[in-house]
Amino acid sequence: MELKDLYREIVNEHNLRPEHKGEMSNPDLVLRGVNPSCGDDITLQLKLDESGKISDAMFSGSGCAISQASVDMMIDNIIGLNKEEAIKRSDLFMGMIKGDVKDDDKLEELDDAAALKDISHMPARVKCAVLGWRTMKEILENPDKTENK
Ligand code: ZN
Repeated sequence: MELKDLYREIVNEHNLRPEHKGEMSNPDLVLRGVNPSCGDDITLQLKLDESGKISDAMFSGSGCAISQASVDMMIDNIIGLNKEEAIKRSDLFMGMIKGDVKDDDKLEELDDAAALKDISHMPARVKCAVLGWRTMKEILENPDKTENK
């Protein structure tokens, strides 16, 4: 299997069988993220433990395969991280998508989400790929924007 096919396979799998899609009871932080240029519309829900670590996360909403797969992969990646670490991870993902970060050792930190690397060559899909990540960063930096209180 070629690497490109493997990447496509990973994205498909997360899109068809998302592990983290649904509604969470009593989330601590909730924020909707919309990408009007494609019609992607997600709501991200985060649960934090006493130490401020992300102990669980889920998303609801709809959108194209890339937006849905990306947010599902993101959630896999950020559970267990504290706020600063999760924001840093978002910056790393953005760096990869913009084509600024190409070092594979560094991108390993993104696990499955590194499969979206080639999106940097598809400008029309960039907003789809980053939707979940920018929404996560926004709510962690501005917790008072949460929509559940
Ligand atoms: Zn999209």
